[in-house]
Amino acid sequence: QPAAEAIERLVRDIPDFPQPGIVFKDITPLLADPDGFGAVVDGLAAAGRGPAGEVVVDKVVGMEARGFILAAPVALALGVGFVPVRKAGKLPGEIHSVSYELEYGEAVLELHRDGVAPGDRVLVVDDVLATGGTARATRELVERCGATVAAMTVLIELTFLPGRSAIGDLPFTALAQV
Ligand code: 5GP
Repeated sequence: QPAAEAIERLVRDIPDFPQPGIVFKDITPLLADPDGFGAVVDGLAAAGRGPAGEVVVDKVVGMEARGFILAAPVALALGVGFVPVRKAGKLPGEIHSVSYELEYGEAVLELHRDGVAPGDRVLVVDDVLATGGTARATRELVERCGATVAAMTVLIELTFLPGRSAIGDLPFTALAQV
């Protein structure tokens, strides 16, 4: 299928980034290729459609920073709004805030309180699912607004990490697994 082929061909491994021992999935060559970028946007957008191709979500949420690049065109493809989840201190309005553990220290993600409405069905889009901490915090932010994560989708799932179990029980798709 074209999205998986594009990821295989255009995402490169960068050893020892950002720290020794980590092999970083660099998606910038994929973004620079319009056919590949288009194929993965179509693949991610499928997570927001029902069996007859109908759109079943009200909003698309993407996480700073690479999630923005993917979630915004997915939102346009589905004809629904894009809503950013940002790192601490960036959003100007009233926010919900969730902190979560990193390997060293902790991180904070924020969402505008009126970014999603109570009852909204949200599609969450990011580039890579690793430990699942980012995705889990995003789910919590969406739920604090009274909305539901209808589905979550990523380009690449790192299956040697427990991300899938960290996000809990919700529909999850990855266009590729490593
Ligand atoms: P997690 O919270 O699941 O441990 O890490 C996922 C977050 O970190 C995602 O937002 C993703 O952008 C970033 N991330 C972690 N590992 C990689 C990687 O190898 N490549 C890229 N592009 N992003 C990564």
